[in-house]
Amino acid sequence: MTFNCLYCAQKKPISESTLEHAVPKFLGGAQAPPHYKLHNVCRSCNNGLGLHVDGSYAKSWFVTNALASAARKYYSGPGQSDFLPLTCMGPVNIPGLQLPEDTVAELWLGPSGESIIWMRTDDDDLYWYTGGNPTHRKNPSTVYFMPVSGDPVRLRMGTEAVIGGFKKTKARYIFGATVGGLPPGTAYPGFDLPTVTDESNIQAIRTVIQAGSIRAQLQMNTKFDQRFICKMALAVGFALFGQTYLATVEAAEARKGLWPNPEHPPRVRGSQTIFNNPQFAHVAGYEGAVVILVMQSGGSYAMSMTVDRSLPFVVELCPATLRSEFLESANGYSLVIFPLLQQCVEICQSKLLAHTLGHNLNAELAAIDQIRQTASYFWESLPSLAVQANKT
Ligand SMILES: [Zn+2]
Repeated sequence: MTFNCLYCAQKKPISESTLEHAVPKFLGGAQAPPHYKLHNVCRSCNNGLGLHVDGSYAKSWFVTNALASAARKYYSGPGQSDFLPLTCMGPVNIPGLQLPEDTVAELWLGPSGESIIWMRTDDDDLYWYTGGNPTHRKNPSTVYFMPVSGDPVRLRMGTEAVIGGFKKTKARYIFGATVGGLPPGTAYPGFDLPTVTDESNIQAIRTVIQAGSIRAQLQMNTKFDQRFICKMALAVGFALFGQTYLATVEAAEARKGLWPNPEHPPRVRGSQTIFNNPQFAHVAGYEGAVVILVMQSGGSYAMSMTVDRSLPFVVELCPATLRSEFLESANGYSLVIFPLLQQCVEICQSKLLAHTLGHNLNAELAAIDQIRQTASYFWESLPSLAVQANKT
C-alpha cells in the first residue's frame, strides 16, 4: 500500500503516513473540523516542514506578537484561562551582563509589560526565529523575570506566563525582585535561588530598565512566510476540495513554491504578509482570532489568512469551477479559530460578515464575543501600573 505525499508528491509506503493538521497547531488548528486532519503527508515532510516552514512563519517577530495580542483579548485572569503568550522584542545589549560564550540575551515582555531577559544559545542560521533555533531549546539557559508591580494578580499572571512560555526549554528561572520581604526565588514556585552571578546580572538589567535605555534589535527576514503560504494553500485546498484540487495548475505551482528552486520560480499569485493592508485585514479578520477565508474572485477562489485582524496574506487557490461540499461559491467560506480558547467556528463568509457588522448575530460567535467582553472587564479591573509605581 502506498500514497502520494501532499507536499513532496513522492510515492510513499502507507507506514510513512502521519497525521497532519492542515492548519498548524500553533494557530489553534488542532480544534479545526475533521476534514482538516490529513493523512496523506509523509513523516519526513511533517517533521522537516514543521521545523523550517511552519517554524519560520510562527517564530517570526510579527506572528509571535500578533498571536500574543490575540490571546490577551480572551484572557480573563489567572485560573480562568491558559497562561498568556509573551511578546518578543529581540536581542538586547546590556552593559555588565555576564553572558557565557555563544549566548545571546533576548528581551521579552510579560502580560503587564514585565521585562524578561532570556540568555540562550546564539545561532546565526535562524537569526529571525524568536527564541532562536528550536533544536537548541534543550541547551541550558537562564530567564530573568523583572516584575513591574507588587499586585498579586499581576504577579501571578506574569510568573505563569514566564513558566509557561519557556516550558519547552531547559531554563532556570530567576526572580529579579524581592517580594513581601522574602528573598527572590522563594516566593514563587518554579523559580531558583539566584547565584552570585545572577545577582550581578539582575543589577545590570535593573540599571538599564531604570535608565529607560533598554533597546532591542528587531531581527527580520522578509521571506519568512513564502514557503508557509504555499504549504497552507496545498493543505487548505486539499482539505476543502479533495483530490480534484491536486490536479490544478495552482496546486502544482504552490508545490513549486514550497520547494523553491531559483531557476524555476513558482507562479503563485497573491500577496505576502508584510504587504500589510489594514482595511483588508479588518474586513477579512476577526478580533483576537486566526481567520482563513476562501472567496470567489473572478474565475478563481482566493484564500486569505489573518491573525488578530492583521498580517493578511492572500493566495490564489484554484479555479472557481471546482466543487466542495464545504462551501457554496456565492457565500464564501471562513474558518475562525480562537487559539487561547481552543475553539473554532466554521461559517460561510456572508454570515461572518453579517455577524461582524451586527446585522445578523451568529449564536456561537456571540457567545465568544461575550468571553472577550469579560476579558476586557478583567483587564480594566487590574490596578493601574502608574498607581502601583507611586505606592512603592
Ligand atoms: Zn512528503
